[in-house]
Amino acid sequence: MKCSKCGKKAVFHRKYEGSYLCRNHFVKSIESKAKKTIRKGKMIERGDRIAFALSGGKDSSAVLYLVNKVLGERKDLEFFAISIDEGIPRYRKESLKIAGKLCKKLGIKHHVFSFRKEFGEDLSEKVRKIRKSDAWEGTACTYCGLARRWLLNKKARELGANKIAFGMNLDDEIQGIVMDYLRGDLVRLSRMGGEPIVRNELFVPRIKPFREIPEKEIGLYAILIGLEIHEDECPYLEGPRFRVRDFLNDLEAESPGTKFSVLKTFEKLLPSVRGIVKKESVRIVKCSECGEPSSQRVCKTCELWGK
Ligand code: SF4
Ligand SMILES: [Zn+2]
Ligand SMILES: [Zn+2]
Repeated sequence: MKCSKCGKKAVFHRKYEGSYLCRNHFVKSIESKAKKTIRKGKMIERGDRIAFALSGGKDSSAVLYLVNKVLGERKDLEFFAISIDEGIPRYRKESLKIAGKLCKKLGIKHHVFSFRKEFGEDLSEKVRKIRKSDAWEGTACTYCGLARRWLLNKKARELGANKIAFGMNLDDEIQGIVMDYLRGDLVRLSRMGGEPIVRNELFVPRIKPFREIPEKEIGLYAILIGLEIHEDECPYLEGPRFRVRDFLNDLEAESPGTKFSVLKTFEKLLPSVRGIVKKESVRIVKCSECGEPSSQRVCKTCELWGK
């Protein structure tokens, strides 16, 4: 097949657009889509100091590469990367090596923080210890995700970042939306648009420049620009989110454009959701144990990790 724009050999068929794209036009289209999302959401502004949450996987590596490529020359902006070592055997070490290499190549400062240092134990130890106990809640991802978000927010703030950039793509975004619908968690849902219902100076705002780009396209972008990426799956990956992922992928294959439609519909509903979730019902206090922002007296991270 030939590129719909220049007639060269196509590398990608964008079904939901009905177009075929060659390597160059595909790469350009991803970069201009991300720039449009950044502009539309006013994600990056003059004087920003942005911490990139970098795992070494395709999404976080590609977002750092792309934003640095299009905005790295701006003297008023500052970028650095933060990686979290949760302590997942045969998985995280390799991805941290790749993350470190990318930062070195781009000239970006790279900070690495670990669960072991911060919480006194690795995720693998935590999971082994309490999986069979009554205290076990949810999946390994519950413990991991909470602690990682806690640590990223804390370290980004301490390092002076005023924003944290994540590599989340369209698939991640809509999986989160559907999960929040299924759980009936309107407070979480109201934050999916990027704006928290209540601002708090201890929370570093998050930006997601890839939120309108499908996962498959980020993967191809990373390959085409020659990024070294960590492709292994986490051995702890489990839970309903992955069934939601497969369900949405099946719908998209049957009816291209479904994923965008989930996001667009949610964006139309968002003002109403934010109207339902009254500001007064979301109270942010300092956790009495760790001093980090929390909606309860003791935050969930302290509760689960015993900080
Ligand atoms: S899949 Fe779950 S356990 Fe593995 S890194 Fe992600 S959140 Fe952590
Ligand atoms: Zn072309
Ligand atoms: Zn706490």
